[in-house]
Amino acid sequence: MKKKKLVLSFPEKIVTKPLTYKLVKEFDLEFNILRAEITPDVEGKMLIELRGDDEQINRAIEYLENNKVSVQEAGKDIIIDRESCVDCGECTSVCITGALSLDKKSKKLVFDRDECILCELCIDSCPLKAIKVKM
Ligand code: SF4
Ligand code: SF4
Repeated sequence: MKKKKLVLSFPEKIVTKPLTYKLVKEFDLEFNILRAEITPDVEGKMLIELRGDDEQINRAIEYLENNKVSVQEAGKDIIIDRESCVDCGECTSVCITGALSLDKKSKKLVFDRDECILCELCIDSCPLKAIKVKM
């Protein structure tokens, strides 16, 4: 059995379609939602873990992409360049999961990797370009 972490981005028109349910029903996969931010009429993001046969996982990814869901492997990582960062907190305002925050006491930027869903919204928010994605 293979495991794969994927980031799914749902465009607003299909955000309420029960596509993920089909992953279990039609592709016989175990499905675990690690993070989700889905609001009707707005783009949705979901970090999922799929477990199952390799071929079935690939077929499921194809199925999602055919239904206009953007699928990315969550093998990436967010890197903060601490030398460039001035702890302005700008990036925390776009981070929907709270993975980026300012420590109340030290006022320094804190990154909680476990909370990060790799949505990449923070990248463009940093005026100093201190946030990057490591592939
Ligand atoms: S990619 Fe950036 S904005 Fe998105 S969850 Fe991770 S830290 Fe927050
Ligand atoms: S926006 Fe950039 S400079 Fe400001 S806290 Fe975030 S990473 Fe640091």
